[in-house]
Amino acid sequence: MRWRLADDEADTQTSLFGLGELLGPEQGTGRLSGLEFLPVVARSVLNQVAPTSAMPFRWTINAYRGCSHACTYCFARPTHEYLGLSAGEDFDSKIVVKINAVERLRAELANPRWAREHVAMGTNTDPYQRAEGKYRLTRGIVRELAEAKTPFSILTKSALVKRDLDLLVQAASEVDVTVAFSVGTVDAAVWRVTEPGTPHPRRRLEAMRAMADAGIRTGALVAPVLPGLSDSRAQLTETVAAIIDAGGSVMGARPLYLKGPTREHFLSWLLRHDAALHARYLQAYGRRTELSNEYHEWLQDAIKQALASANSRATGTLP
Ligand code: SF4
Repeated sequence: MRWRLADDEADTQTSLFGLGELLGPEQGTGRLSGLEFLPVVARSVLNQVAPTSAMPFRWTINAYRGCSHACTYCFARPTHEYLGLSAGEDFDSKIVVKINAVERLRAELANPRWAREHVAMGTNTDPYQRAEGKYRLTRGIVRELAEAKTPFSILTKSALVKRDLDLLVQAASEVDVTVAFSVGTVDAAVWRVTEPGTPHPRRRLEAMRAMADAGIRTGALVAPVLPGLSDSRAQLTETVAAIIDAGGSVMGARPLYLKGPTREHFLSWLLRHDAALHARYLQAYGRRTELSNEYHEWLQDAIKQALASANSRATGTLP
């Protein structure tokens, strides 16, 4: 999902103007200071995923481009380079806003050829990043999808999704709705340095609890797991237990994927953060984008054991 979809999405216009008409930039103020918003009038909002993609959905919506959550490892960073902006600081602070996303989506959903296939949000940017507090596009999109009887899923790292609980409950009574959270770790020290613009993972889990209590299908992707930073048995066990305690399911676990500008951005951050670990990454990843199959298998086994332990704790039985 989010950490791997950037290559598969058709929404890769090669310039800012390719997205539609660019309006004047707006500087963020107050809690949004330091951010610059680039409103565009989008020509389309529903993106079709490349037919060769292995993703379990064919349609996505990304009302924003760039993401103030600023995760060091974010695989969507290259989407800013397509726009002539940098995959580093610009991605974190210059946020493209498809200002007409709700109206445009309403028109696209009204097309008689629309087959009400599943739509995924949160694939290339976080739909509940800080800009959403100001522009409320995701809220409008949720309403439109529900009214058009279109099933959808949301993947977020934000607790702001709780704001839309009323709409999500209403939508879930009509169509299939999943609200998933990315929780790579609940280790606060790791979270603080690797996901500096996101709410604390425990706040995400509180939002997950609210979704679960309201009867909405919810869970977490334990991703990306960062070797040497968030992959000790103790960290994985604590993270999985926190997800289960919050009423969610573990929807999968993936180690860090490193490619292109994301690789450069992450490794240069890691060099500043921990030079010895940086050297180990160079050795472990080499020129590859992923770690070995053995590591993947080890991780799946570690998650399985953590789940067994969390479930037995929840039911009071031995693992
Ligand atoms: S929340 Fe998701 S889209 Fe936003 S920076 Fe982090 S990984 Fe990227």
